[in-house]
Amino acid sequence: MKTIGILGGMSWHSTELYYKLINEGVQQKLGGLHSASILMASVDFADMEELQRNNEWEKASQILANLALKLQQAGADCIVIATNTMHISVPLIEQSISIPLLHIADATADAILNRGYTTTGLLGTRFTMQMDYYRERLINKGIRVLIPDESGCQQVNDIIYNELCYGDIREHSRQAYLQIIDDLHSKGAECIIEGCTEITLLVKQEDTPVKLFDTTAIHAQAAVGFALQDDY
Ligand code: GLU
Repeated sequence: MKTIGILGGMSWHSTELYYKLINEGVQQKLGGLHSASILMASVDFADMEELQRNNEWEKASQILANLALKLQQAGADCIVIATNTMHISVPLIEQSISIPLLHIADATADAILNRGYTTTGLLGTRFTMQMDYYRERLINKGIRVLIPDESGCQQVNDIIYNELCYGDIREHSRQAYLQIIDDLHSKGAECIIEGCTEITLLVKQEDTPVKLFDTTAIHAQAAVGFALQDDY
């Protein structure tokens, strides 16, 4: 079994979920008392959020690149950035390491295409929804991406930073998300990417008839697939 290197803590509420899902995935495939081989570097999210807010992407990326290298030196066979947003740092991280980085948007795009969808709604932080680093990756795979209007983006973003990253789950916010999902669906989105690793804590598949792609679960599954690729 290969060792998975996780860059976590962004926020720890979703990293906890990664840890659980990856261990469950390995246990399910190998049975018995098997669990995953994981090395994790978990950051102080207050520092990272401040850098994001101030658009200090170089600095944030350098921190993650240094940690990724430490994980590699400690024996990690791959790197998983346990947040969609900080995939903005992929170019610098990839320059710093020689092990593969499992990109969350690639795994998600593959899952969408496998189900036969070509147009998706994207919910996440305003960076993920509005900047290029994430959408381009999907578009390059042939997927059309719809995002909420400006006030919808603001609402989706604020609920992530003011509630979900605190582990605060509110019914009112779930209803707001469901309304935005409905709007995107009526504008042509065949499915929705939960493109922030905490959204799955708020909106579950049973809450809506629109097909959801939970990036936390998809990314965790990709990590399990990588770790066990030589075990069959
Ligand atoms: N975990 C979130 C994501 O997947 C947001 C927190 C962050 O800004 O890293 O984008």
